[in-house]
Amino acid sequence: MDKTTFFNTLALACEQNSISALATPAVREHLFALYELLVSENSKYNLTAITSPEDVIYKHFVDCMLLAQHIPADSTLIDVGCGAGFPSLPLCIVRPDLKITALDSTNKKIHFIQLVAERLKLQNITAICGRAEEIARDVAFRDSFDISTARAVANFPVLCELCLPFVRPGGVFLAMKGRYSEQEFNISPSSVGQLSANAPIVSTYLLNIGDANEQRTLIKVNKIGKTRDNFPRKYAQITKKPLI
Ligand code: SAH
Repeated sequence: MDKTTFFNTLALACEQNSISALATPAVREHLFALYELLVSENSKYNLTAITSPEDVIYKHFVDCMLLAQHIPADSTLIDVGCGAGFPSLPLCIVRPDLKITALDSTNKKIHFIQLVAERLKLQNITAICGRAEEIARDVAFRDSFDISTARAVANFPVLCELCLPFVRPGGVFLAMKGRYSEQEFNISPSSVGQLSANAPIVSTYLLNIGDANEQRTLIKVNKIGKTRDNFPRKYAQITKKPLI
């Protein structure tokens, strides 16, 4: 897709999702550069399954930009299981006030984010390779972020245990999910309590994609105290006996 068509499609996608104010000229340039790098590197490394230009604009960029309105100014944020940088890269581009850490266990994806940060001169993102359940044991990361977030990483109870340990007391975990699922999202108050958090607050909205739309769910979980010593458990335990 050439630059003019990209800009027109991006403008339409932002308008359809009421976020035109975010698409400043500088943001549009950065998103086009990100799109070009994603397409060229994806052909070498298989970074993402979403590759058509329209899908990248709607399902990667706009989908992630919609999270921005839920994040207070100047927050520190960790994106757990960021993959090729979603939501961290679009957020970093539209919100230079944020201090973002992008975490993934796959090296090639972290290298991609580092390449993008270098080429686009993004100052507010650090990408690190590691497993969430191990990095959350490091005092430099544990109980220390204003916000943790994750998109398309694991089912909700598993995600709570991977993401909540990073959040400081008073901070919030924002889970980006697809269609609403009563079965998946209904975690018991005692389980989130074990993770020092309050009951999740679930809201649904539509991602408008041309004439169609897809349901999305945002789940907010407020952290109220420090993470107990026994969390997060080892990954095999987290998935074998999820907190439900
Ligand atoms: N958030 C991105 C990627 C989703 S794919 C997006 O929405 O496009 C899920 C990613 O989570 C993969 O890149 C995988 O390497 C990573 N991941 C899964 N479990 C993880 C863990 N325990 N710690 C760190 N990364 C993990």
